[in-house]
Amino acid sequence: MLQTTKRPDSPVSIIGAGIAGAWQALLFAQAGHAVTLHERGDEAMTDATSHWAGGMLAPYCEAEVAEPIISRLGLRSLEVWRRELPDTPFNGSLVVAHPRERNDFERFARMTEDHRRLDAAGLAELEPSLEGRFRDALFFPAEGHVEPRRVLPQLHERIRAAGGTIKFSSDVSAGDLAKDPDAIVIDCRGLGARDEQPELRGVKGEMILIETAEVQLARPVRLMHPRWPLYVIPRENNLFMLGATSIETEDTGVTVRSALELLGAAYTVHPAFGEARIVEFGSGLRPAFPDNLPRIGIRGRRITVNGLYRHGFLIAPALAELTLNYVERGQIDNEVMQCV
Ligand SMILES: Cc1cc2nc3c(=O)[nH]c(=O)nc-3n(C[C@H](O)[C@H](O)[C@H](O)COP(=O)(O)OP(=O)(O)OC[C@H]3O[C@@H](n4cnc5c(N)ncnc54)[C@H](O)[C@@H]3O)c2cc1C
Repeated sequence: MLQTTKRPDSPVSIIGAGIAGAWQALLFAQAGHAVTLHERGDEAMTDATSHWAGGMLAPYCEAEVAEPIISRLGLRSLEVWRRELPDTPFNGSLVVAHPRERNDFERFARMTEDHRRLDAAGLAELEPSLEGRFRDALFFPAEGHVEPRRVLPQLHERIRAAGGTIKFSSDVSAGDLAKDPDAIVIDCRGLGARDEQPELRGVKGEMILIETAEVQLARPVRLMHPRWPLYVIPRENNLFMLGATSIETEDTGVTVRSALELLGAAYTVHPAFGEARIVEFGSGLRPAFPDNLPRIGIRGRRITVNGLYRHGFLIAPALAELTLNYVERGQIDNEVMQCV
C-alpha cells in the first residue's frame, strides 16, 4: 500500500522552478502545505527549458500529433490557467498554409477539432495584418498563449503570496531532502533529473525573437510546414517569437539551416517580417521520455514529474492537480502515474 499523507501542513520540497515545478508549488502552497521550491539557477531562469518556450496553450492543435492524454491534460489545464491567472490571453490560434502545403492543411483540419474555417475576409477581420496573405485559415477559438518570461515570475510571485518559499541558487538532491521522514519531495528537474531517470532525453527546439512595428497579431499563427509546426507568436513591445524546430540532438545553439527556415517561414507569413530586427537566437532542450509522454513517478513520499516534452505549459497545471490529489487523497491516475 502506498504511503500518502493527509496532513495539509506537511512540508513539501519541490526541486526545479520551471513550469512543472512552479505549478506544483503553487497548488500545494494554496492547499496549505509548507512549500519550499528549490531552483539551482537564478531568477532569470535562463537554464530552464521553460525560458525558451513559445507558451502556447493549444490542446486542439496539438491533437494532430499528440496522444489523447495530452488533450485531456491540456483541456483541464486551460481551466486551471483561467482560474489562477485570469489575465491569460485566450484569443485562440490560427493555422494557415501556402498552396503547396494544401494537403497538409486539409489533413490538419481533419485531425483536429473545435476549429472554424475562415475565408480570406474572415481572416482579415480577425488579423488585419494578414489581409490578402492567405486564401483561408483554421481558427481555434478556445486556445490561449502565455509569455513564458513573464508568466514564470508571475507564478513565482503567486507561490510566495500563497505562503511558499522560493530558494534560487539552491542546487539540491532529492535523496538529501527525502532524509526528513515527514517531507514530501517532488522532483521537477527536467533534464537535470537524468542521474535518476537515465531514459530522459533532450529534444532541441530552436527559436528566434524579432521586433517590428509593421505587423500586428493578436494570437499565434501556425504555418503548415513539411517537417515542423512553425509558428509566429506575438509578444509585448512589438516582439514576435518564431519557433520552433524539433531535432533529436542535445546540441545547443541555432544552426544556419534552422535560422533560414524559421526566418523564411516568417517572411512568407508577412513580407514586413523581412525588415524586422533580430533580437535573439536561442534554443532549449525539451525533456522527453522514449514515448514522449509525461510521467508522474511515485516512490512513497518521493515523487517525480517529468517528460513534459513539447507540452510543458499546456499540461503542467493538470499534472500539479494530479500530484496534489495523490498526496491528499491517495488518488492514482493510471494513465500518467507509475509506482517506481
Ligand atoms: C523552443 C521551444 C518551444 C516550446 N513551446 C512550447 C509551447 O508553445 N507550449 C508548451 O506547452 N510547451 C512548449 N515547449 C515545451 C516546454 O518548454 C517544456 O515542456 C517545459 O519547459 C519543461 O518544463 P520543466 O519544468 O519540466 O523543465 P525546465 O523548464 O527545464 O525546469 C527544470 C528546472 O529544474 C532546475 N534544476 C535542475 N536540477 C536542479 C537541482 N539539482 N536543484 C535545483 N534545481 C534544479 C533547472 O535549473 C530548471 O530551472 C517548448 C520548448 C521549446 C524548447
